[in-house]
Amino acid sequence: MAKDVARRFMLENADTRGEWVHLDDTWQAMLQRADYPPTIRKVLGEALAASVLLSATIKHKGSLILQIRGDGPVHLLVVQATPEGHVRGLAKWHTEPESDTLDAIFGRANIVITLEAENANERYQGIIALEGDTLSTALEQYFLQSEQLPTRLWLHSDTQTSAGVLLQRLPSSTQSDEDWERVGILLDTLTAEELVEVAAETLLLRLFHEEAPRVFAARHLAFQCSCSLEKIENTIKGLGETEAHAIIAEQGKIEVDCQFCNSRYVLDHVDVAALFAGAQANSGNPTVH
Ligand SMILES: [Zn+2]
Repeated sequence: MAKDVARRFMLENADTRGEWVHLDDTWQAMLQRADYPPTIRKVLGEALAASVLLSATIKHKGSLILQIRGDGPVHLLVVQATPEGHVRGLAKWHTEPESDTLDAIFGRANIVITLEAENANERYQGIIALEGDTLSTALEQYFLQSEQLPTRLWLHSDTQTSAGVLLQRLPSSTQSDEDWERVGILLDTLTAEELVEVAAETLLLRLFHEEAPRVFAARHLAFQCSCSLEKIENTIKGLGETEAHAIIAEQGKIEVDCQFCNSRYVLDHVDVAALFAGAQANSGNPTVH
């Protein structure tokens, strides 16, 4: 069984494209960073699989960030998938949810999907209310409302694996509605056990043999954070020199922990002085690039 891979596929006889994903070590790496209650762990794993599946459907090359923000026990869930196959994610909670319904976990909440272009200057953001019994139905609604693209998702996560399958009707589809409904019904016959244990080609052929599935090369996925000292320094520059020195005077240093990967960045008076000296030298001499 291939680990930490995504496979694109086409159902040639039904004008439908799809994506299959299996996250293993990647998902384990995320679980090591916080002690999630089971209800939160389950939905975080589903969201992680969804982020990879959804990122495969976007046209431009860039990152996809899926966030759920609400007033329930979990106030923030965020997962990100980049075109290089790097994923990260976390959930923040006040109390343990009383059950595993979306309502009990997130309360009144929104799904926010952000597409970031490679240079991070261009962004597209879509927001809809989180509605439905499961994350997959909520995301299906998102695609229908925001993108007018009929989409089906099958998501599963447990302590070892986060996995899923996406089906999307091609925008140019000339096939009948019955074809689209039929592939959805076939997808509903999938079991969690099959999704976890059966290899992509075998599984897709088993589910959709009459639709002639064509499965493309594997894309490898890895847990990797995009945080860096440079990004932290830019944030500190944004605070201003006086404020930065004031924090160090009070706390001895500026300490920033990345919540995604637990990396710790520490800056003292000398670092901050050097940081702002550099910033001033650049701004005072606009001919230097
Ligand atoms: Zn990080």
